[in-house]
Amino acid sequence: MRTLIFATNNQNKVKEIRSVLGNDFSIITLKEADIDIDIPEPHDTLEANAKEKSTVIHTLTNKNCFSEDTGLEVEALNGEPGVRSARYAGDETDFKKNIEKLLQNMDGQRNRLARFRTVISLILDKQEYFFEGICNGMITENEAGENGFGYDPVFIPEGAAKTFAQMSLEEKNEYSHRKKATAKLIAFLKEKYGQD
Ligand code: IMP
Repeated sequence: MRTLIFATNNQNKVKEIRSVLGNDFSIITLKEADIDIDIPEPHDTLEANAKEKSTVIHTLTNKNCFSEDTGLEVEALNGEPGVRSARYAGDETDFKKNIEKLLQNMDGQRNRLARFRTVISLILDKQEYFFEGICNGMITENEAGENGFGYDPVFIPEGAAKTFAQMSLEEKNEYSHRKKATAKLIAFLKEKYGQD
């Protein structure tokens, strides 16, 4: 089994990605790799932030690794919160406050279209590769559901009748941006390593 470092401290993301990895690959988290840093996300694109995170960890470890950056892009808010999704309502990541601010900004707004976009940056044998996953959907008027994290209680993916937070992990994976980006990563790794 091949192992990659996943450059994140977000246990929700780790859980989601582990649930779709299969048996050919495994990931170790920063904590498991004994790396105790909070990697900055200073850039104004998801791609640049993902690249920053994988590059920092690759420079530290010289090992194959990947990172991901995700944003919620709301059409009526000109793509906001986008790359600022984690800190939309302030410097610290606070899911509750972020949702409150989003619902306030969407108050009275009839166009509720939005999408999650995930960008994965992989550094494999010193080369960098990007993979993208998009999930279209809409922002609800109110929060619903307890599962998941972040904006899950206010996002209904296209084709579904409930929010991500009302779904099991397996159900979320049927639609999820992160699942789509990860599937591309896995397909690439399998091709590269000649596995089926
Ligand atoms: P980042 O990729 O860690 O910068 O994530 C940005 C923010 O987007 C997170 O803090 C969450 O609020 C939100 N987010 C990322 N992925 C998801 C998801 O799958 N569902 C809901 N919110 C998410």
